[in-house]
Amino acid sequence: ETVVVAIDGPSGTGKSSTSRAVAAKLGLRYLDTGAQYRAITWWMLDNGIDVDDAEAVADAARKPGIVSGTDPSAPTITVDGTDVSGPIRTRQVTSAVSAVSAVPEVRARMVELQRAAAAEGGIVVEGRDIGTTVLPDATVKIFLTASPEARAARRSGELRGKEAVSLEATREALVKRDAADSGRKTSPMAKADDAVEVDTTELTLEQVVECVITLVEE
Ligand code: C5P
Repeated sequence: ETVVVAIDGPSGTGKSSTSRAVAAKLGLRYLDTGAQYRAITWWMLDNGIDVDDAEAVADAARKPGIVSGTDPSAPTITVDGTDVSGPIRTRQVTSAVSAVSAVPEVRARMVELQRAAAAEGGIVVEGRDIGTTVLPDATVKIFLTASPEARAARRSGELRGKEAVSLEATREALVKRDAADSGRKTSPMAKADDAVEVDTTELTLEQVVECVITLVEE
């Protein structure tokens, strides 16, 4: 039987580290759907498209060619053949991504890519709507949470050295992005009814990974 693990939740909960480690340990592929939304957002910005113009974003949604490499030890993402792993993590992309992701045509396109990846075999897919919308028949669904303080601390730890951002500014940006992701009309971020919620605030990465693997092996 093909194992499909859906891991959803807001950023700063350890979603990416957990998903990659689980995939590596179980010999599964790994798909970062947030990176796909970031990649299409990067392309919109690079092509001068106003990300607040939903119609313009919808019209362009099928133009960029987005390809994800699914090796958990070295995930990659390209747009029309260009590696955009670095540029998709900039502040510009991070602040534009929720608006682009709210456009139904963008979501329809990304969901097609995500289902096609999952149809190829065992995989860990991380995102916001994987358990609810993209892969409702996943073998195991996890919804990761953590306190806003823990999430902001983890995020600014990741950013340290790259950009000078205060903990407070990081926290505010996170809260704003979550509100947009949870409030949009088309597949908002949500815990699926049959997902297991894991609060990672007081847990180490190893403990969270262990917990997810136990659920998969049950
Ligand atoms: O996971 P990450 O923080 O990189 O995701 C970036 C953004 O992509 C999210 O804030 C959200 O707007 C969007 N996203 C989404 N659905 C997903 C994954 C990400 O809307 N499945």
